[in-house]
Amino acid sequence: MKKHFETKAIRTQMDRSVFAEHSSPLYLTSSFVFDDAEELRAAFADEIDRNIYSRFSNPNTQELVDKMCALEAAEDGVAFASGMAAVYTSIGALLSSGDHIVSVRSVFGSTHALFKKYFPKWNIETTYLNANELEEVEEAIQPNTKMIFIESPTNPGLDIIDMEYVSKIAKQHNILLVVDNCFATPYLQKPIDFGADLVIHSATKLIDGQGRVIGGLILGKSDLIHEVRSFFRNSGASMSPFNAWILSKSIETLAVRLDRHCENALSFAKHFENHTKIKTLKYPFLASHPQYKIAKKQMLKGGNIVTMDLKGGIESGKTFLNQIQMCSLSANLGDTRTIVTHPATSTHSKLSAEERALVGITDGLIRISIGLENIEDIKYDVEQALDKVIG
Ligand SMILES: *Cc1c(COP(=O)(O)O)cnc(C)c1O
Repeated sequence: MKKHFETKAIRTQMDRSVFAEHSSPLYLTSSFVFDDAEELRAAFADEIDRNIYSRFSNPNTQELVDKMCALEAAEDGVAFASGMAAVYTSIGALLSSGDHIVSVRSVFGSTHALFKKYFPKWNIETTYLNANELEEVEEAIQPNTKMIFIESPTNPGLDIIDMEYVSKIAKQHNILLVVDNCFATPYLQKPIDFGADLVIHSATKLIDGQGRVIGGLILGKSDLIHEVRSFFRNSGASMSPFNAWILSKSIETLAVRLDRHCENALSFAKHFENHTKIKTLKYPFLASHPQYKIAKKQMLKGGNIVTMDLKGGIESGKTFLNQIQMCSLSANLGDTRTIVTHPATSTHSKLSAEERALVGITDGLIRISIGLENIEDIKYDVEQALDKVIG
């Protein structure tokens, strides 16, 4: 039986225990026991598929990985303590000193720190491309380029990268394509279908979807995941079984949650698109989005993030946040609760104005992670805050 997305998300499950439970149990155990010396030997020699120690594997983390592999159409995967542990490991496991990365400039802030501050210490350099000039990806490739790293949609610029185009070039040059799929989740976008070798997730965001636990994943081709797993078993950024148990349950409702997130976000975007206090409003599934056609090609729906550039810059951004009554001022996204952020004075305040401009962050840019509250209440809160902004 060929199962659909929702069914795979709900029915991919670990084996039942002797207690015949319906919902998967939580296996809080650091290690696993063996019957005899031979079984132990075979487990360590990788001759039998057997849990040994929860830094390596655990039934709960495995259930989560199996689910995510089914949803992303990936051959294999590994779960990590955080999205950043996954990003770090994708490079630590697969690249060597002297290798080179080409990346979209507007990557997640901590990914940027790895590329520009830490990996250069190991002689791994990164060349950035602006999201709107990916035709130049070929020119950025060097003889030692081993990886192209992209996010789509980007955070917080909401640029859409044409994965099919980039993967074609990556294949011509025998370079790995890694896609951070955090903003879309496999429900909205499957990078492997467009040629990605590895997909990375921060499960902290829409996969949890309820703002509770931190987690990450790498999914993809089994030979690459084999390398990732060897590195990870030794470096130890494992996801806790508890977090895996939470996240595996969360995935059962991913599709219905995202349907409503996206419906709310599209309704919000249409409502505020031409508001007098807003210079530009961006949402991937609005026809006014510069890469609307690409978004339509590679995404099922537009996601839950909307950005709006307020007239009046920094002051307007601050006034807006201060006037918000219901939505949360927080750094997370993809929660049931709507969250508003002003990147210029928070997440991206350490960048200069020029650096911010390069990644599409203007002084008045507000990022809104649209939640699952009634859309009329979200609109009301934003409307009354915008009223107080001096445009
Ligand atoms: C949050 C985020 C990460 C990092 O994930 P953590 O779980 O916070 O470590 C990586 N990429 C993107 C696009 C993110 O939004």
